[in-house]
Amino acid sequence: MRTLIVTSDAGFDHRIPPAHAEQPQRLRAVMDALGEAPLDRLKRVEARAASRDDLTRVHTEDHVDRVAACEPDDDGLTGLDWDTYMTKGSWQAALHAAGSGLTAVDAVMKDEAEAVFCAVRPPGHHAERARPMGFCLFNNVAVAAMYALDVHGLDRVAIVDIDVHHGNGSQELAERESRIFFASIHQSPLYPGTGRAEETGLNGNVVNVPVPAGTTGEEWRAAIERDILPALESFDPQLVFISAGFDAHAADPLAGLTLDERDYAWAARKFAEFRGKSGAARLVCLLEGGYDLGALGRSAAVFTQALAEA
Ligand SMILES: [Zn+2]
Repeated sequence: MRTLIVTSDAGFDHRIPPAHAEQPQRLRAVMDALGEAPLDRLKRVEARAASRDDLTRVHTEDHVDRVAACEPDDDGLTGLDWDTYMTKGSWQAALHAAGSGLTAVDAVMKDEAEAVFCAVRPPGHHAERARPMGFCLFNNVAVAAMYALDVHGLDRVAIVDIDVHHGNGSQELAERESRIFFASIHQSPLYPGTGRAEETGLNGNVVNVPVPAGTTGEEWRAAIERDILPALESFDPQLVFISAGFDAHAADPLAGLTLDERDYAWAARKFAEFRGKSGAARLVCLLEGGYDLGALGRSAAVFTQALAEA
């Protein structure tokens, strides 16, 4: 697939202290891995900043105002919940992380690319309509999905979330928006505690595949083949978003699945094969979690490489 990388250096300015898992070095690890041959040949595009209109397709005006107001103007730290913080620079980082998906959607809709990997932080999939949480300020993938529907005029888009944590914020959007299909495979029990198989959204537009700690890559692949890909086919989205968290890796300190980077390459190939009835390949992948720097860099690289080779 013709594959682009969208990123923003603003992601380095969200300076969460080193003791926190979601730190600027994560983006450095990903960009270093994407900078090695043959990935260094892929075109890089700078993410634009999301506008207020872009954000309020998903979030309340109050939510946007609150995040804006929480950025400290000194070297301090503002806590939005027990594990979600802002520092000076976080506001621009959040706007560009949310904007990366918009830049990516424009690229695939103009057929400048068939697949895009957005290397950005902070992550987004836990952010709800009116609540930042779980390291997430704005729901980057949800903002991009609504943009594809309302600005580009698509009728149906899908979000497939392979982060080890359930994408509660993305599911919350799908529960009020039938043009979105949301599927998640995630460890359960684990933060944030949502994502039971019984949560099926509007007429089945939500598919949750909770798996226990210790799940192997082979079992994870089988569950995606069995529970997610057929539902994705029948929804027939015109564009597929992947919430690409790499924290189901065995080395990850925040979870207990036992994947390795080959499983992420497999997932990229599977989603790259998806065409839908239109026949067009359009895949927009946004970085979510992944907290072991080595595993994160390697996983993001093999994932993106598999897209480019598909
Ligand atoms: Zn995660």
